[in-house]
Amino acid sequence: MRQLAKHWLTQLLGVSAIDAGARRSLAASLTASTGTIALGAIVSVTLSFVIARQSHDSLLLTLVGGFAFLSALRIGLRSCLKPDPDPRSRYKEKLFEAASWSFAALTGLFTFLTLTRVDDATLHVPAVALAAGYASATACRNAGRIRVPIGQPLLCIVPAALGLWMVGALAYQLLALALVIMLVGLVEISAGTHRIVGNALREEHEKSLLATKYERLARFDSLTGVENRMAMQIRLREIFENNRRSSDAVAILWMDLDRFKEINDSIGHLIGDYLLCAVAEKLSEALDGRGHVARFGGDEFILICPGVNRAGAQAIAADVLDYFRDSFEIAEHTLSVTASIGIAVAPQDGRDVDELMQHADMALYEAKGSGRNRATSFTWSMKDRFSRIHDLETGLRKAIANREFSLQFQPIFDYTSGKVVACEALIRWVHPKLGSIQPKEFIPIAENIGIITELTDWVLAHACAAALDWPEDIRLTVNMSPALFQSTDLPRMIISHLMATGLPARRLELEVTENVFLVDQPRTSAMLLDLRKIGLRLALDDFGTGYSSLSYLSAYAFDTIKVDQSFMRDVRTSAENQAVVQSIIFLAEKLGMDTVAEGIETEDQQAYTRETGFNFAQGFLLCQPVRREEIARLLREEMEIDTQRSRRPSKIMRRIA
Ligand code: C2E
Ligand code: MG
Ligand code: MG
Repeated sequence: MRQLAKHWLTQLLGVSAIDAGARRSLAASLTASTGTIALGAIVSVTLSFVIARQSHDSLLLTLVGGFAFLSALRIGLRSCLKPDPDPRSRYKEKLFEAASWSFAALTGLFTFLTLTRVDDATLHVPAVALAAGYASATACRNAGRIRVPIGQPLLCIVPAALGLWMVGALAYQLLALALVIMLVGLVEISAGTHRIVGNALREEHEKSLLATKYERLARFDSLTGVENRMAMQIRLREIFENNRRSSDAVAILWMDLDRFKEINDSIGHLIGDYLLCAVAEKLSEALDGRGHVARFGGDEFILICPGVNRAGAQAIAADVLDYFRDSFEIAEHTLSVTASIGIAVAPQDGRDVDELMQHADMALYEAKGSGRNRATSFTWSMKDRFSRIHDLETGLRKAIANREFSLQFQPIFDYTSGKVVACEALIRWVHPKLGSIQPKEFIPIAENIGIITELTDWVLAHACAAALDWPEDIRLTVNMSPALFQSTDLPRMIISHLMATGLPARRLELEVTENVFLVDQPRTSAMLLDLRKIGLRLALDDFGTGYSSLSYLSAYAFDTIKVDQSFMRDVRTSAENQAVVQSIIFLAEKLGMDTVAEGIETEDQQAYTRETGFNFAQGFLLCQPVRREEIARLLREEMEIDTQRSRRPSKIMRRIA
């Protein structure tokens, strides 16, 4: 019933439901100034006192006391009401409201009694004015809360109108009607004002809610809930602004998950997302209030630690890496993830935000380059190395188009026949400004900037074409970067070059290092199997430098093992190297694989490796890497000598014989 009445009243007055925020603001408008209340009180008390005094009516005089008491109460309460009062002091608000309602009722009663008990028209006029005045003042001031401008005028006007009607004279009754009409007008005006004010406040409230929502979206990373890149930069700028005066330290730890892309690609992006959330959580735990976590993007997080010096930053980094020792349990997957961290500390490592960020990024790059799963602090010497890397990166992007690459070929000899069995294609790059750059330096950069496929494509095209000039029994070996095994394009690319040049697949051998198994083993195995199906030979290059797991040898059926040149250096003196070399030879023989001794530089190394049982040898002692024309000439020469069965050994053969 109450609900129905409320609904009816709402419809009647055109006052729609107002949300809590707008209602609070409207209610705040109720607590108008103390001055207005005081003015109303003075008028009411004075007028009622004059009327009571003139009429000599003791009841009216008593009511004047009521006016005085309620006025004092309202003024007193109003002056201690705060805009947003403490819930414990809400009773004051309630008391103030009760006093106001009582004041309205008292005004109505006073006017009614004056009209009905006093027979003096000169006193009737101020009494009616008192009720009408209070009613209109309430209606005007209290449009904020709709029941006040309707209820309180009602309490004033209805008794006054009733009193006027009861006096009986026509003029009085007309005035009673006028008062009722005035009441309707007041209600209508108040409702209208309330509606307008309410709508305006609601709009403002909605806008402020929307602003809060967008501010949150703009500041926080939607996936992990930590601050995003923009908020992080703002925070850092603020810290720098404050530190300009105090020159306090601030540390940045730039963290990147190791091999996140592989996890993401192999297990799926959803698990990757869960992993990022778990990482954000772990970072916050590891930080333990020493700084703020932000997600920079992808799998990169930044920890900002105000007031933390280098030692403190290193301690935080150690704690973070420690947290990564436990694997992550995500949706039935147990993921072992490691992280690399670059540290830069202001003011030593950077004078502004951009410089500090750039240096933390450099330190991270260094941490990745030196083996991952570690934290590295920025040093100024890194800057020179980075500017070189930057020059090489830019140079590499243009190098193919500028025809700056070339190939050299180094023969691999058979110890038994003394003849060349294969030639390894080795890329050469002459940078227009920096000169000749070693492949060991630029190949990792090419992998990093994603142009290794393009580069290998170029190598295959030129190497396959060069091999067509050689005798048919001589193989071509080409180095394959592990990065190529991350996409499925490799077999297709190789087939297209074999078809384009007409080089038989059996003449091409691919050299891969053990690093290829660090990445997504099942996919790599499948691809190696595909390559073998094409008819290609596979060689395990630089064996002994990587994981050196003998299990690869049996599991992947390589045709050739190339034992790294580092084993040749002190092979006569190092018992350890001898043991390794001998066990590789033993195993390779059992598995039916050929063995190549790499980096043969001395007669002694040559003699030792031949005695130990290596099938093949490669090294500067036997032949340096040479250009395409030169290798073709040398191989032709060797073939001619062979067919003439001459006893004169060739330039190359001389070394082996
Ligand atoms: P690798 O595949 O082990 O190639 C043999 C490296 O040893 C070559 O260095 C060769 O010049 C060098 N070498 C040969 N004999 C001797 C010797 O007696 N003593 C010494 N000290 N070194 C010798 P290079 O050409 O500088 O290549 C270095 C590495 O760069 C290669 O090692 C290979 O991993 C990579 N690389 C070269 N060309 C390519 C390429 O086309 N693609 C890819 N992905 N990597 C390549
Ligand atoms: Mg090689
Ligand atoms: Mg090698």
